[in-house]
This record gives sequence, structure tokens and C-alpha cells, in this order.
Amino acid sequence: MPVQLTSPNLVYRPSLSLRRTSAVRLSRLGARASLCSLLGPAHCCASFLTAFILALSLLLAGSVGWGGQRDKDLFLSAKKEYDLLKKSAVAGRNSRRWETLAGRFQKFAREFPRSPDTDDALFYAGKSYQELYRLNQKDSTLDLAIKNWQALVSRYSKSPLAPEARYWLGLSFEEGKGEATEARAHYQTLVEKYPRAEWAAKAQKRLDAMRRVEEEKKEQSRLSSAQPGGRALLTQIRHTSSQTYTRITMDLSTEIRFETHVLKAEPSKELPPRIYVDLVGARLGMDGSQPIMVQDRLLRQVRVGQFSPDVVRVVLDMSSLAGHQAFLLPDPYRLVIDIQGSKDRDKLAALEKERELSSSRKGVKPISSGLRKIVLDPGHGGKDPGAIGINGVAEKDVVLAVAKKLAKKLKAEMGIDVVLTRRDDTFIPLEDRTAIANAEDADLFISLHVNASPNGKARGIETYYLDNTNDEASVRLAARENGTSRKGISDLQFILSDLTQNSKLEDSITFAHRLQSSVVSHMGHRYGDIRDLGVKKALFYVLVGARMPSVLVEMFFITNKTEGRSLTRQAYQDALVEALLAGIKKYQESAQVVKNL
Ligand SMILES: [Zn+2]
Repeated sequence: MPVQLTSPNLVYRPSLSLRRTSAVRLSRLGARASLCSLLGPAHCCASFLTAFILALSLLLAGSVGWGGQRDKDLFLSAKKEYDLLKKSAVAGRNSRRWETLAGRFQKFAREFPRSPDTDDALFYAGKSYQELYRLNQKDSTLDLAIKNWQALVSRYSKSPLAPEARYWLGLSFEEGKGEATEARAHYQTLVEKYPRAEWAAKAQKRLDAMRRVEEEKKEQSRLSSAQPGGRALLTQIRHTSSQTYTRITMDLSTEIRFETHVLKAEPSKELPPRIYVDLVGARLGMDGSQPIMVQDRLLRQVRVGQFSPDVVRVVLDMSSLAGHQAFLLPDPYRLVIDIQGSKDRDKLAALEKERELSSSRKGVKPISSGLRKIVLDPGHGGKDPGAIGINGVAEKDVVLAVAKKLAKKLKAEMGIDVVLTRRDDTFIPLEDRTAIANAEDADLFISLHVNASPNGKARGIETYYLDNTNDEASVRLAARENGTSRKGISDLQFILSDLTQNSKLEDSITFAHRLQSSVVSHMGHRYGDIRDLGVKKALFYVLVGARMPSVLVEMFFITNKTEGRSLTRQAYQDALVEALLAGIKKYQESAQVVKNL
């Protein structure tokens, strides 16, 4: 065999665009077609002919298994199954079929290492394992996808599929395995080796996003390394308050143990009722010389000091004794203390409200279950862009646009008071968003997001309520939306065990179902074929401690070509807003039916 033929890429590559005809490949033909037009059709045809004659002569020489008909048929039949599974919603969820198919591609690559389709086989073996991983979420499956793509990029670096394989390798390491260094290396290679590939631009975006995260982490560790003896540092105390609710948030450099205590008023010493919190193993990293004045109906002020070398004590001087709840949110660590007005006072306020309402609408039965106020939370913002999708569209911009439109509609059509957690491109910590909803005493809290997936074909809508879950995909999503690791989520599961019990769980579930079914049916009616991913549960920080029915909705995939593009269109956003509005109306109606029974 002539020496130069040992590298099939060099000899056969130019002719491949003519030989391959499958539908999925068409999308990638753009790049090759332009190569073809650069070389000129005559050259292309000539190289095709050369290749054909070469293959023929090799076959005649008895070199079966290289460029032969059998391997071509085997590959095409596997590729046909791949296209079918990708197209069919039902078959596409069949794990066994994906696994068998991945095996077929792998076997092909093993048996025909010199076929012109070997690089494709490795690529689709990886893609099939990626699809299987999406269904079974097993690390071992992701490893197999990685293995095949790695074989492709190392052995067939000139394959037209090599850049895309590099990208999936990067994403698998970044999001699937949480190995940033490895991910960065793949993205970097892609950008350097194939600077003009469309996948290189995507890789550059991932690199930029990773750099931002890295810089923030450095800043965090710089803060925490400033503490002596490795103790947690209390760096800031923030508060949000209203008539019946106050939230105190303490920013910490790392995890701490804490104890809360309640002290009754001591009139003889002119001391008000107090709640104090001891942060064990902590040092004061902020100015504690002056009390932090709050002066709302519940809380007068907050004092803080280094109580002992090992303990920071935070004292809440209360205006009146009220119930409280404390919990620690990880990554970065912050201790949250919610103070609630007494039930009696709440009831009294509600009664007053009802009386006002009935007197203003003479003869009309007061609607005690009507929705008065809704807090809409456009996810992310500022330094946190959320997911980045097709054409570099950021989640934070899409959800802000939708939230503003929805707010307008809710006011105009339902007369509901709407508060947005952000009105522009600013960063708001997750716990502050819930605090706004609590302080506003809202009747509903809706956190608006759009979904993302390493699988560009993933699409559809799903609605979440706050609860523990073992579902891997939900844990992964929550980790991403929380900006934390998966370990952070398991820490929170423990913390939350009793918190979720007193939240408005049942109402949240009902609302989630109303919203989900409305969006699916309205959008389906208008645009057809909307994938209903259902109502699910997960531990989203932004829902923790909400005192009203609250949901988080993932409105389509920004990473899906069709959905990602649609999400930026005004007409599509308007339709989405109509669909959300319908869901809120449906919830209000059902809530009223229940209350009037
Ligand atoms: Zn989000």
C-alpha cells in the first residue's frame, strides 16, 4: 500500500461532501460547500473521481474494509437509526435504543479504522452516549461519550467534525464533570486550531463565562484568606423590611455553626425583647462600632461584636417579640434570619383589608382569595448573564423583557399590583429576591428563567416548586440556577428539611400545574409541537423562605436553535406573556372556587 494512503483523511476528505447525503449532515455542509466553491466544482469532481478510482483500485487489490460498500452501508444504517431517534419524541426517550446505537457506531470505528466514515462513527458514538446520558444521567455514560470524541479529535484531527467534537468535550467536562481545567483546554484548543469554525465562537463564549466565574472565586478566596486561623469572616449585614416581615442576611466567607436564642424584654433594664445569634468559629470582618438601624415595626436595630475569640454575636433589638426562622445558604455562605410579625396582627391586617374592599365595592361579595399583588422575578442580571444561547443571547435579557411585558398585562387586564425584583440589568442576590416578595406581602412569587442544555436539541417548558428531590437532572438545574455546586444542593437539602413544611407547598404545586398547562396549551395552539416537560421540584435558593405560593418557570431552551431564536422575537414573547397570564388567571379562578366552597 502506498505510504501516503495510510492517512485516510488526507486522501479522501475533499470527496466526502459529495458522498454523504444524510439530512443532519446538511446543516454542516455550509462550511464544506464553501470550500468546494473555493476549489471550484471541477476540482471537487476531479478529487471525487480520483478518490473513486483509488477506492476501486484498492478493492480490486483485495483491500476490503477500507472505502468498501459494506462499511458504508453499515455506517449509513446506523446513521439512519440516529436520525430517527433524534426526530421521534417517543423513540428518542428509549435508553436501550441509544445504548445499542452507540455500540454500533463504536463497533464500526473499531472494525473499520480506515473507512472514510470512521471519524463520523466516533462522533455519533459520542452523540449517542450524550443522548443516553441525558436520559440516565450516569457518569459512566458521559465517560463513554468523552472517550469516543477524544478518539476522534486525537486520531482524526482533520475531520470536519473535530471542532464540534472539541466543543462537546469542553461542555461535558465543564457541566457534566465539573472539571474546569480540562474543559478550558478543549475550548482553547478549538479556538486556536479552528479559529474560523462556528464552534470556535461558541467555545470562546464559554471561555469568557468561565473566566468571569474564576475571577469571582478568586475575589471570594481573597476575602476569606484575610481571616486569621481559617475562621469564617462575617463581612456584611443586610436587611429588607416591611410592616410584617424583616429579613436579615449575613454574608460569610465560609460555613459556620450558629445558635439562635430569644430573650424577653427586661423593662427594669430598659431592654427590649431580643433575638441573638452566635456565629461559632467566626471573626468580625466588618465595622461593628455602630448599630445598624432598621427601625421597622418588628426590628429596631442590629448590633454586632466579637463576643469571644471564637464567637461573633449578632443581637437583634426587637420592637416587639416575633417569630423567627434562621437558615444557612451555601456557596457563598450567608446566614438568613426571617422575622415574622405575629399571626394575630397578620389576621387583623387581612380583616381590615377585606373590610376596606367590601365597603369600596358596595353589595359585592369581598374576594378574599383574589390576587392583589404579584412579585415577578426576572432571573439573573448584571454580572450574572444566566444561560447563553443561540447567537449569544443572554438569559437575563430575555427574562427581563418577558417580565416587563407580563407586569404591564397583569396591571391592565387583572388590575393586579406587580413588583419586579429588578427593572434593569442589575445583579440581585437570590435571597434578596425572596425577601422582596415577603416584604411586599405578595400573593404570588414567580421566578422567570429560560433553560439551557449541552444538548442543542433539548427543548420545551418546565415549571418548578420548592422541594427536596433525588432527580439528577433537577439537582443539576438547581445547581446551575443557584450558581452553586451539586454539593451545595445536598447541604441545603439537610437545612431545608423543616423549612419547606411551612411554606405554601400545596398552593405552589397547584399554581405550578396551572401555569405549566396554560403555557403548553397556549403556545402549542399558536406554534404547535411544544414539549411539555412537566411540573417538577427542586431546591432553588430563590424560592427558599417565600411566604406565598411560589414557582420557578423555565420557559424553553435558549440553547435550542428554534426556541432560542424565537425567544428574542417580540411576537413570541407577547404570546408567551399571554400564556403566562392565562395560567395566572386559571390559578386565581381555581383558588376562588376552593375558597368559596
Ligand atoms: Zn436561570
